[in-house]
Amino acid sequence: MRQVCFVRFGTHGLSSILITSDGGHILIDGALPESAPLIVANIRSLGFRIEDVKFIVNSHAHFDHAGGIAELQRLSGARVAASQWTADVMNKGAVPRDDPQFGALAPIARVARIETIKDSENLSAGAVTATAHLTPGHTPGGTSWTWRSCENGRCLNLVYADSLTPVSADGFLFTRRKAYHADDFERSFSFLESTPCDILVTPHPEASNLWQHLEQRDFRPDALIDPTACRVLAEKSREQLRKRLATETGR
Ligand SMILES: [Zn+2]
Repeated sequence: MRQVCFVRFGTHGLSSILITSDGGHILIDGALPESAPLIVANIRSLGFRIEDVKFIVNSHAHFDHAGGIAELQRLSGARVAASQWTADVMNKGAVPRDDPQFGALAPIARVARIETIKDSENLSAGAVTATAHLTPGHTPGGTSWTWRSCENGRCLNLVYADSLTPVSADGFLFTRRKAYHADDFERSFSFLESTPCDILVTPHPEASNLWQHLEQRDFRPDALIDPTACRVLAEKSREQLRKRLATETGR
């Protein structure tokens, strides 16, 4: 059986997702540096062991999602895998110049050994397989993850969609980039629109209404299931980008 667990920290929710199987687990995102002991405690409280995490992967290399990965790697001995851009950032521990938020973000703890993954690459731990999807936008190396979860003969497609908000430090223009600009977002929106999606989860849980859905589960067991959720997020994100680009071009 596979499960998804969500971890909440104080007043600020950040997702850390455990996909489990009898033969090992995959952990997605490590939240803040100080989150690592809480993530380990939550894994334990669910009856699993941090030592059985075989892979740690992430959405994007910002301190609030990747900050805890170095410590989680140390505690678990898991392999860490990321997109090339993300791996470079986590290896150096510094936010690079081509990150839209360069100069405005805290650095992250350096992660020593990182394997790189390509678009559509599968990672397996026991019976669990997660697929990487490069979804640039919020950062050039942003990665979304998909997997199937089956229980009592019913299988669902889960999507952990990376942030697609066009947030930047002062002075950065998405319209003035060469290697990385609005077209990259479009590719990510297309992914969201076309990927099989029964349950959507996001690094910031409120972006996929996680807390409301979990509350509704008390009286509606399938409250997390919404086959339109990925398309709705794509639409919202496209509108956010349109507004942002309009402020840059004055149109
Ligand atoms: Zn971020």
